[in-house]
Amino acid sequence: MQQPKIPGLDIPVRNIYCIGRNYAQHAKELGNSVPSEPIVFLKPLGAICYDQATVSIPPQSESVHFEAEIVVAISASGKNILQADAKNFIGGIGVGIDFTARDIQSRAKKKGHPWTLAKGFENFAPISDFITDFKSIALNDLDIKLFQNGFVKQHGNSSEMIFPIPQLITFLSERFRLHPGDLIFTGTPEGVGPVNQGDKLEILLNNGQKSLTVNIE
Ligand code: ZN
Repeated sequence: MQQPKIPGLDIPVRNIYCIGRNYAQHAKELGNSVPSEPIVFLKPLGAICYDQATVSIPPQSESVHFEAEIVVAISASGKNILQADAKNFIGGIGVGIDFTARDIQSRAKKKGHPWTLAKGFENFAPISDFITDFKSIALNDLDIKLFQNGFVKQHGNSSEMIFPIPQLITFLSERFRLHPGDLIFTGTPEGVGPVNQGDKLEILLNNGQKSLTVNIE
């Protein structure tokens, strides 16, 4: 398999870090408590796909949910990165969908098992083109909106994150050495829901500065 690349940066994707429950309203809608430190999981590289991708509902699941998320691309290596320096390690900002087989995840949660099987199916991590000139963009004021068949289902802003982007970079880099090509899916705002065959999902970053369209089959 060709190593997938980050659109706009043209560097290979390395690790796909994902943050769970980073918006209080989303934690509530799934009946979860608000975490005291970031919840981190990984997706496999085979989950990466791009704008205009087609995503299949796998035979193992009867309930695949969309989770629209702001995605940060790391472009420099670092360990123990300070929050004040975090922006210097970002090479791009985009949007993605953390597709989740909610039925498989619910069973895993009950048993205390990892979420990998629920989160890692092929094409379960579509990503948009990335904004690479974001020096004038405020990391704490990124707007994200998801449309399902033309209807707005999710609308969030990075200002509502429990753990803002610089804090996520610090937290991750205190545990893992970050490298160019690492992606961070920063968590989803409220309004997640199931997809059906034939659905068209569209996500806008900052009202269309970047967008991502995915079809469900
Ligand atoms: Zn998510």
